[in-house]
Amino acid sequence: MNLAQKFGIRGRMFFAFGVIASVTIVTSVIAWIAYERLGNSVQQIARNDITAVSLAAELAAKGGAITATAPSLVAAVSESERRRDWDALAGILRKMEALVERIYAGEAQAREHALKTRLLNAVASNLRELDAVVRQRFWFADRNRELSDRLRWAHADLLDEVDPMIDDARFNIGLGLEKTGPGGRQPGGDLKAEVAHQEALLRIKAAGNLLVGLIARAANMTDAKALQDTRHFAMEIAEPIADDFAPLKRITGTLSLRQSYNSLLGYISGENSLFELRRDELELMKKGQGLLAENRKLVQSLQDELAADVEAVNAQARGAATRSAEFLNRTKLTFAAAAVGSIVISILVVWLYVGRNLVGRITALDASMRRIARGDLKANVPSGGSDEIADMADALRTFRDTLSETQAELVQAGKLAALGQLSAGIAHELNQPLAAIRSRAHSARVLLERRRPAGARDNLMSISSLAARMASKINHLKTLARKPSSQIGIVDLGAVVAEALDILQARIKDEGVTVINRLPRGEIFVKGGAIRLEQVLLNIIGNALDAMGNVRRRALTIAATQTRDDVVIQIADTGPGIDAAIAEQVFDPFFTTKDVGEGLGLGLSISYNIIKDLGGTIKVGSDSKKGTTFLISLARAAEMAPA
Ligand code: ADP
Repeated sequence: MNLAQKFGIRGRMFFAFGVIASVTIVTSVIAWIAYERLGNSVQQIARNDITAVSLAAELAAKGGAITATAPSLVAAVSESERRRDWDALAGILRKMEALVERIYAGEAQAREHALKTRLLNAVASNLRELDAVVRQRFWFADRNRELSDRLRWAHADLLDEVDPMIDDARFNIGLGLEKTGPGGRQPGGDLKAEVAHQEALLRIKAAGNLLVGLIARAANMTDAKALQDTRHFAMEIAEPIADDFAPLKRITGTLSLRQSYNSLLGYISGENSLFELRRDELELMKKGQGLLAENRKLVQSLQDELAADVEAVNAQARGAATRSAEFLNRTKLTFAAAAVGSIVISILVVWLYVGRNLVGRITALDASMRRIARGDLKANVPSGGSDEIADMADALRTFRDTLSETQAELVQAGKLAALGQLSAGIAHELNQPLAAIRSRAHSARVLLERRRPAGARDNLMSISSLAARMASKINHLKTLARKPSSQIGIVDLGAVVAEALDILQARIKDEGVTVINRLPRGEIFVKGGAIRLEQVLLNIIGNALDAMGNVRRRALTIAATQTRDDVVIQIADTGPGIDAAIAEQVFDPFFTTKDVGEGLGLGLSISYNIIKDLGGTIKVGSDSKKGTTFLISLARAAEMAPA
C-alpha cells in the first residue's frame, strides 16, 4: 500500500481541512494577540493614564484654590478670618499631598514624586510664612491703634496744658495793658514778657496740633517715601519749638507742658514712633505681597509641572493608541490574507479535488454503473487514482467482467435449454419425413420390382426432397447451436420469422394454435444478426405457446410496421396476458412464473440483452383480456444483402 492509498480520501480531506483549520487557528491566535494588546493598552489608558490625568487635574485645581485663598489670608482683618483661611489652606495642602501620593505611587515615578513633594513643601512653608506675616500684621494694627489712641490722649493733654496757659498769658497781657492805661506809661517789661509767653505758647500749640495731624496721617500712610518725608517734616517742625520753652521757664505748668509736648515727640521717633511702626508695618505688608507673589509662582510652577505630566501621559496614551492602530492595521492585512488564503484553498479543494477529482470520478463511475445495470456489459469503467473510488472502480470492473462471463454462460445455457426443447420438436419433425421416406423407399422398391422405373423415380425424387428438407432442418439446428457472431448485418425479417415458426411447427400444430403471419419473406429488412434474432423470436413465440396452454382461442399474430429508420415487430398471443404488477420484471434474470423444471426465467433477460446488442429495444404490452404483445424495435435496413 503506497502512501497515497494509505491516506485515501479521508486522509486527504483531513489534510486539506487541516490546512484551512491551521490558517484559521493562526489567524485566531493573531487576532487574540491583537485584541489582547489592544485591550491591555485601552485598559492601561483607562486605568493608569485617565486616572492619572483626572487626579492631576484635581491637583491642579487644588493649586488654583490655594492661589485663590492665599490673598484672602493676606487680606484677613480678624483672627477668625485668618484662622478660617489658614484652615482652608492647610486642608487643601493635605489633600494635595494625598493626591501626589496617589498619582506618583509607582517606583518609576519616584523622581516626579520627589519633585512634586518639594514643590508642595515650598508652597507649605511659603504659606506658613504668609500666615506669620498676617499674625505680625495684626500685632502692628493693634499697636498702631493703641499708639494712635495714646497720641490722641497726648494731644488732649497738651491742649489741656497749653490752653489755660494761653488764657493766663492773655489775661496777664490784658491786666498789663489796663495797668498802663491810655496815655499811661510805656508798657513795662512784664507785659512784653507776657506777650512773648503768649506767642511761644501759641506756637507750641500750633506745632503740637500740626505734629498730631502729621503723626495721625502717617499712621495710615501706604507709601514709605511719603512716610519718610512726613517724618522729616515733623522733625523740622518739632526741633525749633524747643527754643519756645526757654522763655516759659518761670511760668507755672511749663514743666508739665514740656512733658506733654515731649511725649508727642515720642510718637515721631523712639519706641513709640508711629512713623517707625508704620514703616515696619509697610515693610511687613510688602513682605506679605512678596510672599504672595512667590506663592503664585510656586503654585504656577506646580501647575506647569502637572500640565507637563498630563501632556506626557497624553503623549503616552496617544502613542499607545497609534501603536495599537498600526498593529491593528497590520493585523487587518494578515486577516485579509488569511481569509483569501482560506478561500483559495477551499476553492482549490472543492473545485480541483472534490469537483474534478472526486465528484468527476464518482459521476463517471455512476454512469458506468448505470450502463452496466442496464445490461451494457461493454461499458467502460474509469480507471486511475489510488483511493477508495479507484477501489470501487476496480470492484465494478471485476463485477462487470464476471457478469459478462456469467451472462455468456447463461446465454449458452439458455440456448442449450432451448435446443433441448427444439430437439424434441425436431425429432417429431424428422419422424414424419423419415416415415414418408421409408414408405416412399418401399414403394420405389415395389415399383422397380414391377419394372416401373418412372414411378420409382418419382418416389426416389420425393425421398430426395424429403431428405433435403431434413438436412436443412438439421443444418439449421447446427447453426443455432453455434455461438453466434457478434457482427451486425442485414437480415430478412420474414425469413427469420419463417425459420422460427418452422422450428416450432410441431408444437404449434400439436397445441392447435392458429398462426397469423403478416411478414412475408423478402419485404422487410433490419440491421442485426439472423441467428440471434431467431433465438429471440423462438423464445417469445415459445413463451406465447406456453401462455396459451389453458385458453380456448389460441392465435399467434406476427406483424411489423416500419418507419423511415425503424422496424417494430409485434408478436401477439391470446393468452392470459401479464399482470401489470410484474410486467416490469419479466426481463429480469431468473424471473419466472413457471413451475420448477419448466422455466429458468432467463429467456426474456437473454432476449433483452440480445436486442440491446443489436441496437434495438424490446417492450411488453399486455392486456389481460386480449393477451400479450411483445414489441421489438430494430434499425431498418434499406436493401437486401446476404444473411
Ligand atoms: P421462463 O419462460 O423460463 O419463465 P422468461 O424470461 O422467458 O422465462 O419469461 C419470464 C416470465 O414472463 C414467464 O415466466 C411468464 O410469467 C412471463 N411471460 C413471458 N411471455 C409471456 C406471455 N406471452 N404471456 C404471459 N406471460 C408471459
